Amino acid sequence: MSLEFPAILAIDDQPANLIALEAALKDCGYNLISACSGPEGLVRLHQHEFAAILLDVQMPIMDGFDCARIIRARGVDTPIIFLTAIHANESYAVRGYEAGAVDYLFKPLNADILRAKLAVFVDLFRKKKEIERQTSLLRESADRKYRDLVEGIRNGIVWTWPANNECLEYVSASAAGISGIANEVWLGEKNFILNNSHPDDREMVAQALAKLEETHEDVELEHRLVRPDHTLLWLHTTIRLANGSNGPEFRGLSVDITRLKVTEQSLRDMILIRDDFLSIASHELKTPLTPLQLQIEGFQRLSRRGDFRDVPTETLNRMLEVSAAQVDILARLVDQLLDVSRIKSGRLILQRAPTDLSQLVRKMIDVYHVAMERIPVEIDLPETLIGSWDGVRLEQIVGNLLGNAIKYGRKKPIKVQLKKLETTVELSVSDQGIGIPANAFDRIFHRFERAVSPNHYSGLGLGLFISQQIAQLHGGSIKVKSSVGAGSTFTLTLPLQSAHQ
Ligand code: ADP
Repeated sequence: MSLEFPAILAIDDQPANLIALEAALKDCGYNLISACSGPEGLVRLHQHEFAAILLDVQMPIMDGFDCARIIRARGVDTPIIFLTAIHANESYAVRGYEAGAVDYLFKPLNADILRAKLAVFVDLFRKKKEIERQTSLLRESADRKYRDLVEGIRNGIVWTWPANNECLEYVSASAAGISGIANEVWLGEKNFILNNSHPDDREMVAQALAKLEETHEDVELEHRLVRPDHTLLWLHTTIRLANGSNGPEFRGLSVDITRLKVTEQSLRDMILIRDDFLSIASHELKTPLTPLQLQIEGFQRLSRRGDFRDVPTETLNRMLEVSAAQVDILARLVDQLLDVSRIKSGRLILQRAPTDLSQLVRKMIDVYHVAMERIPVEIDLPETLIGSWDGVRLEQIVGNLLGNAIKYGRKKPIKVQLKKLETTVELSVSDQGIGIPANAFDRIFHRFERAVSPNHYSGLGLGLFISQQIAQLHGGSIKVKSSVGAGSTFTLTLPLQSAHQ
């Protein structure tokens, strides 16, 4: 179709008439295409777009009226000018107009009138084409704007899915990056969204689409897609039903909320840990309170009777010892909690000073001798081993390792060994107790983490966490070797720094 040389279709069974038309329109700048019959004219209509049709009324095989009716029936609305030799009476004209004519020209043709009429239709045709061009430009630019907008969405996937089609029609470029699945797969795979949903979410997605088709009300849902690497992509999807170019279509915006969901889950886990911790902590803090309370009540009874003198000194000493031990336990628990908050806020600061680690270990074994009463301990220590360490904090580590060896050691022999290596020192505490499963080796050094049931062993799950932090502040570490049922060895390694450092 050329707007410069618009095409005119002339249908006439008389070659002479066609030649006359050609002569009349010679200088008008039209592309005149001739057909000798109605059927031939219909074929030409398939091949070109015409600005106007000049159609002879009286033709054998198919007259002009029938031909015009077929043209209109095919949805072609090109203006038809009937050419007729018969002077039209009213009913004749009505028949023509009913068949789709827009004008009549009478033979013999007046060339000026023919040109003038055609000029009007060609002008109309050009204007119509210009409007169509502008409309399509506008639509294209609106489409482009819309696509640009959509393609700019980084954390969301925009998609359209014709309701009568098995495949998506469009998916925004962000899809591949977010889902790890190529856009071609999004578009090529049948029922992509349902197929790639987490099996537990498929039913929910299908129901949401069915509800949308039924009610035409937008639906919103949170669901999971399974990525090719089997990780889950959490999406918050809003879907609406709209009229697409080929019927109703689902239009979806799926926003990646995976990070949010992971955070939500870890917050939920943390709340669980906190609740567990609170119940363990209250239990642990309460445990020493009961014997302490009993001792205090004993003292109160004696004091009320006013006869402390009758009570043997050993009994009084025993009562005081038990009370002091409970206060010690309470103080240690509270200290552990305070240390955790110091570590969290970076307030645990070492006070380094020349420290004899051999002497320190001996002292701690003495401190624990009551608890170790019936447990044989093998000790292998150098005479002295001095380094620049925080003695009070190292006592805490040694106390924790010894305490655990006693608590989890099933009363079997314990071995404590201190070695000086080239640039480091190694202190190991071994027991032959319950042992630790290999999958808990890392975990037990984390806050509140325990590898035993609180019903069997008391503790807050903080000792190793605090000890590891202290070791690391010294530039060292604590490692564990263990097998379940055979015992554990915890080894503290510290850089050997000279006393003057
Ligand atoms: P707590 O002893 O208060 O639970 P810790 O941080 O000292 O806290 O220890 C964490 C966990 O490591 C313990 O709950 C226990 O499961 C495990 N554990 C530590 N020492 C030993 C050991 N010598 N033998 C077996 N398990 C141990």
